[in-house]
Amino acid sequence: MKVGVLAVQGDVREHSVVLASLGVRPVSVLRATDLTGLGGVVLPGGESTAMWRLLNGNGLAAGLQEAIAGGLPAFGTCAGMILLAKGITNWDERYLQLMDIDVERNGTGRQVDSFEAVVDSDAWGPIPAAFIRAPVVRRTGDHVHVLGRFGDQPVWVRQGHLVAASFHPELTSDTRVHGYFVNMCRKEGSWR
Ligand code: GLN
Repeated sequence: MKVGVLAVQGDVREHSVVLASLGVRPVSVLRATDLTGLGGVVLPGGESTAMWRLLNGNGLAAGLQEAIAGGLPAFGTCAGMILLAKGITNWDERYLQLMDIDVERNGTGRQVDSFEAVVDSDAWGPIPAAFIRAPVVRRTGDHVHVLGRFGDQPVWVRQGHLVAASFHPELTSDTRVHGYFVNMCRKEGSWR
């Protein structure tokens, strides 16, 4: 199975390394045609405003919108979560708006406030996580399932074929969060 990693900006290489360790073939996604034949796509962390500008430059924003809305499984981390979110409480722009959550950009503070912490998950137990100027989930829709929490805040969520994490699972050696997504993609089967 091939899993795409949106490669316009952000920690593309780290995601690709984790995906490869899980036995799938990572594919860099730079244009809409790269989405063909993928079992899923990862939207990495980075800077959502910069990513959006780059995505709109070559039609990839529209291609992603269509593919994910059409059933391509997607996993957004940090800035990728912001790209997927329906609402952003402290920002005027909206991006793909595919997941029924509202997030607050930079809700955990500035770069210096980045931290490592343990995410609690009912199904998987404690998961080490790195938060880097992370969004905070302020609302989850009725169909959004919380997979992991930090304190009482949802930080890892799923809605159907969409998964999002406000932290960076690619920066720790624990591969379970990516593993969850890869298993989900395998169950969805080959898309397109
Ligand atoms: N603060 C960034 C944003 O708003 C996200 C940070 C990250 O992806 N590490 O896009």
